[in-house]
Amino acid sequence: MIIDSHCHAGKGDGLTGPWDTDASLGKYMRRAGQAGITHTVLFAAFHSDYSVANRAVAQIVARHPNRLYEEFGFVGIKVHRHDGRITREICVAAAAYDLPVLYDVMGEVSIVTLLAQEYPHVVFIIPHLGSFGDDWAAQAAFIDQLARFPNIYTDTSGVRRFDLLEEAVQRAGASKILFGSDGPWLHPGVELAKVRLLGLSAAEEALILAGNFLRVVAGVRAQPAWTTHAMQLPRRPPPSLLASRRALDPWLAGEPTVE
Ligand SMILES: [Zn+2]
Repeated sequence: MIIDSHCHAGKGDGLTGPWDTDASLGKYMRRAGQAGITHTVLFAAFHSDYSVANRAVAQIVARHPNRLYEEFGFVGIKVHRHDGRITREICVAAAAYDLPVLYDVMGEVSIVTLLAQEYPHVVFIIPHLGSFGDDWAAQAAFIDQLARFPNIYTDTSGVRRFDLLEEAVQRAGASKILFGSDGPWLHPGVELAKVRLLGLSAAEEALILAGNFLRVVAGVRAQPAWTTHAMQLPRRPPPSLLASRRALDPWLAGEPTVE
């Protein structure tokens, strides 16, 4: 079994580039089949209304029930900084449903440390080693975070600097990396060849090609479990406590009263 954990599908409603215009799967399905990819995880193309775009993706998945996974609303949440930064609401919902969150940080890797520490029970997949745009410094910094935090994962999609991919595997281990192609815009066979070229043991390669994805979606719940670690949204301290903190803490003394 080989799972491509990162592929887009459907129409975008923009007209900026392929990413928000069209992600037809015709060529992709043929190429993936030839490359031996048995299953594919889908996200929408960029869209101004994801309730529309995700419904379209769901219809595509329904037509190929044995080949495709729908990412949004089914086994995971995708957030792209191009659309908006990740929020606590998203993290809390992910925790309640035990959904992994794929968050494209577009090179802004500092947020990864906050996510990892604030939501240690949520799996975050940071695609492209942190930068589709090949920001070498961001990718190098991200590899530290990938190795350091148990709940931070990455995917191989679109990563061009092979040395960094190799370093990520060496330092963080094969269990933290998912195979993804960023199809249909990138060729899934080319992207798969990168994983093969890492020269890993059969067991490590199997983790990247399928095992890690299956593990991170294994706990997904249809019903939220608000009673477990989902309740991570910090409650506002009562006003009385804030007032006393202000009295004690010179740093808070000038803080406007907003409660
Ligand atoms: Zn993508």
